[in-house]
Amino acid sequence: MGGCIFCEIAKKKLDSRIVHEDSDVIAFEDLNPQAPVHILIVPRKHIVDLLHLSSTDQTLVGKIHLVAKELAKKRRVERGFRMICNCGEEAGQSVGHLHFHLLGGRRFKWPPG
Ligand code: 5GP
Ligand code: ZN
Repeated sequence: MGGCIFCEIAKKKLDSRIVHEDSDVIAFEDLNPQAPVHILIVPRKHIVDLLHLSSTDQTLVGKIHLVAKELAKKRRVERGFRMICNCGEEAGQSVGHLHFHLLGGRRFKWPPG
């Protein structure tokens, strides 16, 4: 997908601090962290957002969450972390390639801003 920064990162054409990768999923440190732990968990496949998921992506979405669980344990944030997926501009999505923010290492407020 031309011009997609997360596709470029997944193909290693753009540098990032990768913390996990397998055949379907890549996870890397967010460039502008909002918490001591801020990792982006991304499918290698270009999917624009949650609205563009299809039933064939069911296993992929499950896998992303299992990666989140392993990274939360590895980074020792089991006491509290968030998994956030901004969908659409109004929700704050700025990159049009599905991604989940794994945030941890500080106390979070509710409701979110
Ligand atoms: P969104 O606002 O779409 O939910 O999240 C996009 C995230 O991608 C932001 O937290 C932003 O800091 C991060 N980001 C944008 N460009 C890059 C980049 O080139 N490298 C990395 N590692 N993160 C990026
Ligand atoms: Zn992409």
